[in-house]
Amino acid sequence: MVVVTAKQLDEIVHMLAGRRRVLLLGCNTCAAVALAGGDREVETMIQALQLAISRRGMTVEFVGGVLQRQCEPEYVEAMDAEDIDAILSLGCGAGVAMLAAQTGIPVYPALDTLFIGAAQGLGSWRAECSACGSCVLGETAGICPVTRCAKGILNGPCGGVNDGECELGDRPCAWVEIHERLESQGRGASFAHENPPKDDSAGEMYQWDLSAKGGSR
Ligand code: SF4
Ligand code: SF4
Repeated sequence: MVVVTAKQLDEIVHMLAGRRRVLLLGCNTCAAVALAGGDREVETMIQALQLAISRRGMTVEFVGGVLQRQCEPEYVEAMDAEDIDAILSLGCGAGVAMLAAQTGIPVYPALDTLFIGAAQGLGSWRAECSACGSCVLGETAGICPVTRCAKGILNGPCGGVNDGECELGDRPCAWVEIHERLESQGRGASFAHENPPKDDSAGEMYQWDLSAKGGSR
């Protein structure tokens, strides 16, 4: 899922200066699961913003709402945004982009979009994918070197590895983990070769159409 987290209130209040009536809009899929964009977070953020805004002598009226998915036009088209002069989105960056394109109203992000992650426990996710557009997980035993290696290198480990830990000191070395898992699967020999550079042109893709089975730049 896409992992998101709330921005600081000060940053949000600054974005809303001059706005009169704002729709604070949650997103009931990834953002809700990340405990950042569901019904409860919409209610909580409205209360926090009203307090922060009144302390600054500003007046903004908030209306709350939640879409099932902000990143799909069908849901956005069905939304009621009458007499709203801005939307504050509790969705990921794709949700903000869709709202801005579809509504013609200024849209502001209340969240920061962090990464595509897998759940580690309640309210905890680890970054597993950076959406590079050219996936190598089949060769790296399901551990992404682009995301989990601090340098994003395709042939590792680098010289900085120390007793299985990354030289940054904040994570295990992704490449030690890759080699260990390949060994455990009887695939250790598969990294006797050197990986060629990735085709980064896929990362420049900005649209992908299912019908055409391809992308456009
Ligand atoms: S190689 Fe690219 S697509 Fe595959 S998991 Fe890593 S970032 Fe995501
Ligand atoms: S020590 Fe491992 S994870 Fe850290 S930068 Fe080097 S190869 Fe990547």
